[in-house]
Amino acid sequence: MDFGIEGRTALVCAASKGLGRGCAMALAGEGVNLVINARNAGPLEETAEEIRDRTGVEVTAVAGDITTEAGRAMVLAACPRPDILVNNAGGPPVGDFRDWDNEVWMAALNANMLTPIALIRATVDGMIGRKFGRIVNITSSAVKAPIDILGLSNGARAGLTGFVAGIARKTVKDNVTINNLLPGAFDTDRLRHNIRATAEKAGRDFEDQLAARRDLVPAGRFGDPVEFGQACAYLCSAQAGYVTGQNFLIDGGAYPGTF
Ligand code: NAD
Repeated sequence: MDFGIEGRTALVCAASKGLGRGCAMALAGEGVNLVINARNAGPLEETAEEIRDRTGVEVTAVAGDITTEAGRAMVLAACPRPDILVNNAGGPPVGDFRDWDNEVWMAALNANMLTPIALIRATVDGMIGRKFGRIVNITSSAVKAPIDILGLSNGARAGLTGFVAGIARKTVKDNVTINNLLPGAFDTDRLRHNIRATAEKAGRDFEDQLAARRDLVPAGRFGDPVEFGQACAYLCSAQAGYVTGQNFLIDGGAYPGTF
């Protein structure tokens, strides 16, 4: 299916690796020009080069911390009128809520709630004026089924989800949709980092812990960032104009509810 977005421009945040990279690659595959961001210039430029080589689209790489005002200003200067915005940032650390003071909470809220809201605020009115916009927020399956050691994620992302639920119904009449993609366990650096931390705490071997985590997924495997990106590309497609305010869970069947 032709997604009808060739020649559009997307801003994809936190996209040098993992799920953000998967989204950037899939959008580029649809002929979408990109501005991609991540904190470190080296890996970001490598990803930009690979996307250009594979797809031939224009890719501008902007290194900077998207959770800061300065980082967002740089990214928005490079991409003032995106047709598509993919919000993403690193996830908060795992831990016990007894150890988290206000500063730790503010960092999580800033990264996983206030930063995407700031970027929506900066771009949504332009999209409304141009009668096309697709905003996708990478959140987490933790929004639907909380993960005990990821209380910071459970809380901060629930805040973003509530905010999006409110505005996504306001923008859709101008063909601007806002949806959330909820990853379960995807094979990325982040997943491996978290599993390593859990293994170390429990005194277990990393490979054993990895296998045990994988066995919890009904699909019998971790997700591939490529398939995550393809779902993102659909939500950004011309055909998805009637889909807004939704929370699309991609977790290999891990969520046990009926719906
Ligand atoms: P990853 O570590 O593989 O990649 C993270 C990317 O974000 C990298 O490109 C990194 O440079 C960039 N980044 C991190 N912080 C940034 C910042 N402040 N500014 C700019 N760029 C930044 O991580 P991932 O697994 O792709 O996770 C992406 C998001 O999805 C995270 O918020 C994570 O918590 C969430 N998530 C991931 C999974 C999973 O299984 N991988 C599951 C649920 C939720």
